[in-house]
Amino acid sequence: MKRTKINDLLNTPTIGSEVLVKGWVRTFRSNRFIAINDGSTINNIQAVLDFEKEDENQLKRITTGSSIAVTGEVVASQGKGQSIEIIVKSFEILGDANPEEFPLQPKKHSLEFLREIAHLRFRTSTFSAISRVRHAMIFAVHKFFNDKGFYNIHTPIITGSDAEGAGEMFRVTTLDIENLPKNEQGKIDAKQDFFGKETNLTVSGQLEAELAALALGQVYTFGPTIRAENSNTTRHLAEFWMIEPEVAFNDIHDNMDLAEEMLKYCVKYALDNCAEDLTFLASRLEEEEKSKPQDQRSIPLFEKLNFVVENDFVRLTYTEAIDILKRSKPNQKGQFKYPINEWGADLQSEHERFLVEKEFKKPVILIDYPAKIKSFYMRQNDDGKTVAAMDILFPGIGEIVGGSQREERLDILKEKIKTFNIPEESVWWYLETRKFGTVPHAGFGLGFERLMLFVTGMTNIRDVIPFPRTPKNAEF
Ligand code: ATP
Ligand code: MN
Repeated sequence: MKRTKINDLLNTPTIGSEVLVKGWVRTFRSNRFIAINDGSTINNIQAVLDFEKEDENQLKRITTGSSIAVTGEVVASQGKGQSIEIIVKSFEILGDANPEEFPLQPKKHSLEFLREIAHLRFRTSTFSAISRVRHAMIFAVHKFFNDKGFYNIHTPIITGSDAEGAGEMFRVTTLDIENLPKNEQGKIDAKQDFFGKETNLTVSGQLEAELAALALGQVYTFGPTIRAENSNTTRHLAEFWMIEPEVAFNDIHDNMDLAEEMLKYCVKYALDNCAEDLTFLASRLEEEEKSKPQDQRSIPLFEKLNFVVENDFVRLTYTEAIDILKRSKPNQKGQFKYPINEWGADLQSEHERFLVEKEFKKPVILIDYPAKIKSFYMRQNDDGKTVAAMDILFPGIGEIVGGSQREERLDILKEKIKTFNIPEESVWWYLETRKFGTVPHAGFGLGFERLMLFVTGMTNIRDVIPFPRTPKNAEF
């Protein structure tokens, strides 16, 4: 007999038919009721057996975590909590899970504990739900861009350009690190390395995406992004996935429109396609929030998601934001760790969250940042001191998107890289796109796991990626 997936069985049950179901035992109650999950849905199927008919030694093997194949008849359920169940004709234990050793028991485990057993946490309702939502979000991203006529570009994971994020990069080398070759200056001789030069893991695919956009019109990347961020926060990973669209002929306003549309599309996609998993995650969050004081509780998950889909994001300039922050209560009362005194200050997460969660209570897009605190490639505004940058700030998360209109004017770009101390020859290929047929263009980077945090209502970024890479942690 062919195996029936539990999701298909629950969605289109044929009462009276005989089915074969395979999965993992979640619970076994009263020597009678087996809850089986096969990952195709958050829901378990209940299999009911007559213990008097079964071999006692086989019954003992039905334990939480064991894998099982069950054949039986589909009937309308007598009990509460499920519409159908299977009356077991025969079963076979495929793999035992010794209850003395199996770490997952049918009780609530802390997220911290589950991170230590990341190889098994897929077996929990929480992580299987997150994994399914993650898949749906990956699919939504590709669908959004495909439907708009964008091309997906694979940008390199090993990069030879040191223009971006110096200091945050992981070096890639095949040199013998116990015995590094040195040049005449006593420095490591990168000429002898695999690529004949210093190489690192990418911190962004943007520069390469720009090259493609300046021929293909609309492109996006969706790839691994690696940063040696030694900041143990709940929003940073050393290895995360980033979506970076880049569009020729777009200005900063088109760029904001695209980002807002995309975020709304993805959230709506989750609402439309992940209802059961989100319902589970929403009740999980509600449970968690109960332990917090009333005024610190976040709004219910569905309310939050619908709110983002239905409301326009607030758009304002950095300068306006600084004025608001300067006058704000926490600033006046000295409650910010980094007080806002003057124009030009870099915004910290506490400021971003104040704007989103207290001042506007909506997602906020900030534009026109001081040139000094932003990257070299961002387009200089006519005021000479700000650039056409944009950051999108989300409740509970802070920055979810960072982007800009790019500097398309060769002379200004050359000036810029000089002030940023970037050697011209290291970005000669980037500069050539401005030399030959340059056009205004814009793009942004969306951190996929930050989007996942928002959609799932989880609060630690380590819990929305299967195998988190963070300082001192690369076990699985
Ligand atoms: P932050 O200030 O939060 O570190 P950033 O300014 O370094 O962000 P960008 O370089 O603009 O971020 O990257 C674009 C997006 O990638 C960010 O808006 C965020 O969503 C995501 N992102 C950046 N760094 C990380 C990280 N270490 N882990 C997960 N996502 C990240
Ligand atoms: Mn960062």
